[in-house]
Amino acid sequence: MKHDLYEDREVERLDREALKALQLLRLKKTVATALTTPFYKKRLKDAGITSAEDIHTLEDIRKIPYTTKDDLREAYPYGLLSVELDEVVRMHASSGTTGTPTVIYHTQNDLDNWTNLTVRSLKATGCHKGDVFQNMMTYGLFTGGIGLHYGAEKLGMLVIPASSGNTKRQFQLMKDFKTTTIHATPSYMLHLYNRMEELGYSLKDFNLKRALIGAEPHSEEVRQKIEDLFHIDAYNSYGLSEMNGPSVAFECTEKNGMHVWEDAYYVETIDRKSLEPVPDGTEGELVLTILVRTGTPILRYRTKDLTTVIPEPCTCGRTSRRITRIKGRTDDMLIINGVNVFPSQIEEVIMKMPGIGTNYLIKVKKVGTLDKLTIHTEVGAELFTDDARDLYTLKSRIKEEVKALITINPGVELHEPGFLPVQQGKAIRVEDERGSVY
Ligand code: ADP
Ligand code: ZN
Repeated sequence: MKHDLYEDREVERLDREALKALQLLRLKKTVATALTTPFYKKRLKDAGITSAEDIHTLEDIRKIPYTTKDDLREAYPYGLLSVELDEVVRMHASSGTTGTPTVIYHTQNDLDNWTNLTVRSLKATGCHKGDVFQNMMTYGLFTGGIGLHYGAEKLGMLVIPASSGNTKRQFQLMKDFKTTTIHATPSYMLHLYNRMEELGYSLKDFNLKRALIGAEPHSEEVRQKIEDLFHIDAYNSYGLSEMNGPSVAFECTEKNGMHVWEDAYYVETIDRKSLEPVPDGTEGELVLTILVRTGTPILRYRTKDLTTVIPEPCTCGRTSRRITRIKGRTDDMLIINGVNVFPSQIEEVIMKMPGIGTNYLIKVKKVGTLDKLTIHTEVGAELFTDDARDLYTLKSRIKEEVKALITINPGVELHEPGFLPVQQGKAIRVEDERGSVY
């Protein structure tokens, strides 16, 4: 490997050997950078790594211990900073809903690298100069909004930094400025559709072509629903703040798994119990190493997200491997009377039923010694007639199909549209009243 300066189009189509050589070069650089931080200096030394020269092959990455969210918390605020503070031009911090926040620092060069990845992602979905990009993800410390903003500008799209919420204004902007591309959570897309008529709009008012949906787990059925309701293409977008944010992995127009930009991220999947790497094609927890950031290097980060690396190359010609849609986070997994259940499995069943609305909530509680899971879902207003037979049939079908898929017997409650709460940011799909039973 002579250099690591590739044009983006070229790097997306590098043959696997050249890509691996580039990854090794960048991994070594990243290890060298990490060794300058107080956190990794100790962590790597304990693992016998004191210089980048201790990494000879890509497989040597296995000598490096995993990094967890708790490690990042422990290193708060400066333990993972590897440059002088005056080199840092931006920071992002996690919401901290579950404890001490975590912080990621970016140099200008880090941001430029990230922007290039977002340009690449947007292009993969067919976005181009002239498109109007309405960014409905929250701007702020959360990386969802600002993350795609600069890439969209660099690509030459007209960017409307609408941020999340204020649905009425979103419609007005969409109409007046002929938005072609929306970036939003899938749950917000469905909410938009729900409110459209009531706010006096119809699809004819808009010029929509596509939506980029991400930040929360969603099923193929939800993508399909969004595409059918809006008559657009919807593309899955994956990222997390520890790995910059959006543009870790993105679907191309083939819509068949998300390309991980492997020149920037080293991908592994591991068994959740043994923590040993699993082969491509086998589901596991996604572990990522960012190869192009100096502000805050992070090695072998356990994302807690469950996915499968797709071994076959994509028909689009890009050589970077793809991952399947995220099934959920390992900590989203519910244990119902000993059976493991992911909310996404239930979503899959209900969202393909005719007549089902756009919002649902899974409630879990203890009844005596047993766990009881009840699915609350909205259904179309047309089903609420004097004749309750349609509702009854739908309820029975949901029960049967959930039972067939995950072997538990759920309760099912059907509600009118607008009954269930809607979140501004990521959707909350589960209310578990059992407390910490895990
Ligand atoms: P937080 O950890 O506070 O939610 P982030 O905003 O960085 O912070 O969220 C990243 C997480 O969001 C990912 O680890 C993953 O669980 C989820 N996520 C992001 N994009 C997707 C997606 N396309 N599909 C499923 N889950 C996603
Ligand atoms: Zn592809």
